[in-house]
This record gives sequence, structure tokens and C-alpha cells, in this order.
Amino acid sequence: MSFTTRFAPSPTGYLHRGHAFSALTAFQAAQEAGGRFVLRIEDIDATRSRPEYEAAILEDLAWLGLAWEQPVRRQSEHLADYHAAIEALRERGLVYRCFKTRKELDIGRAPHEPAVPYRGAPLPADEEAERLSRGEAFAWRLSLDAAQAALGGFADLAFVEEGAGPGGETGLVAARPETAGDIVLARKDVGVAYHLAVVLDDALQGVTHVIRGVDLFEAAHIQRLLQALLGLPTPTYHHHRLLLGPDGKRYAKRDKAQTLRELRAAGVTPCDLLAEMGL
Ligand code: GLU
Repeated sequence: MSFTTRFAPSPTGYLHRGHAFSALTAFQAAQEAGGRFVLRIEDIDATRSRPEYEAAILEDLAWLGLAWEQPVRRQSEHLADYHAAIEALRERGLVYRCFKTRKELDIGRAPHEPAVPYRGAPLPADEEAERLSRGEAFAWRLSLDAAQAALGGFADLAFVEEGAGPGGETGLVAARPETAGDIVLARKDVGVAYHLAVVLDDALQGVTHVIRGVDLFEAAHIQRLLQALLGLPTPTYHHHRLLLGPDGKRYAKRDKAQTLRELRAAGVTPCDLLAEMGL
């Protein structure tokens, strides 16, 4: 299969330097390998995604000099495929309904403490039926216990890391999906969760190399398990360093990092940006 990598932004805001660095790193890798570069709009969260952000993303990437294959895959157009995958996992007894509210999950946790990975089990059938009849909201969670029982080589799951994780992990890395607990695959409000859509789409788009920021390294552990359960190929991973601003902090939407459009309006050229990033 020819080298294929991707950039998969969520249209929940304007792109900033950190996104530009990630997109350019992937694009240049595809060019160096004589491979493909595909784009994917990760807009499954309808409450936060906006068409105007998507349009701006395409414009900003073109401004940076990137070119990508058509058509662009838009996740919101494929929700039925994600649901079918969850249904298939459900038929194999790998997912269960979890009715716990965020508040219930947080009981006993101080605000500064990280959320404890949740591990649970299906409710007794009669209790579940009763809650469903009351219209209570639930999430579909992947059962680690069931996954472990279903997969012979659960403990041997691994992926190849060509970049590095936050602790310098590189080369063949053992996948540790259990550190995330029973992950949510679908919620009432957002019909499908990020991890499931990503692994299905990476496979569908023929992605051989996932190149993205090291902030998503932990996701690879979970995604490796999903690939095994769904019988999908495992791409090679390359988690790159995060671009830091002059204050030593990473660029982030929530910090109102200067957007590419603001830089453009201020007269910054793509050449300036590439030079600044050392690309
Ligand atoms: N959509 C994700 C984000 O914008 C990226 C997902 C990925 O690269 O796997 O953070």
C-alpha cells in the first residue's frame, strides 16, 4: 500500500500555528515518500462544529500551500457507518450501556484530581429495561473485560512509533488500552465518539501513517485495541513534538492562540511561518 497520511482537524475553531505545524509535517512526509495526503473533517460533535470553521480550515490550508485528495471525508456524513460498527461490537457482547452521569462518575474526586478510568459491566436486564423505559440517557462503553476475553493476544497488542511519546516511547510500543478504562464509544448527545470514528476512517482512507501531535499519543493505545477488535490494519504512528509559543506554552484554541487568519491579515506569509517552524 502506498504511503498515505492525513490531517484530521475538528472544525471547532480557527486553525493556529500548532495546527499548521501538524498539517505541514504530515504533508511534507507524504511528499518525501511520494505518497498520498488526505484530509478529514472530524465534525461528529455537532454542538461544537461549525461550517464556517470548516470553510476557514480549507482556505487556511490552501494558503499554507497544502494540496489534498478529493473528496474530503466529512465524518458527519458517515454516522450510520459508525453506528453499524458499534452495533457489530454490541452483537459480540463487547459494549454495554452505562447510565452513569458525569456527576456520579466524579463522586469523591477533588477538582484537581484526574478522572479515574471507569470500569463497569452491563446492568441486570430488568434494571436496564426499566431505565430505558424511563428514557434515561446512556453511553455505550467498550468493556475491557470482554475485549480481553475476545482477543487472544490482548497483552501483546503493540504499535510502531516512529516519532516519540511524552515519555520518549519509540519503536515498538506495547499498547496499554486499560489505562483509559472502559472508553465511551457513543453518547446520547454525540452519537459516536472520536476513537471509533478515527480508526474506521483511517482504515477506510487507507492511512498507513498517522502523523499527529504528541498530545494524542495516549489515543494510539486505545485505537490499537479498537483496530484489533474490528479487524482493521494498524497504521504506523508518528507523534510529533508540539510547537511552543514564545511563552514556552503550546498553542491552543482555548488560550486564544493567534489564528492563521489573523497572522495572514497581519501580513505574515506562509514562507515566514515555515521558517519560524524550522520546516
Ligand atoms: N480531530 C482531532 C483533533 O483535531 C485529531 C485526530 C487525530 O489526528 O487522530 O485534535
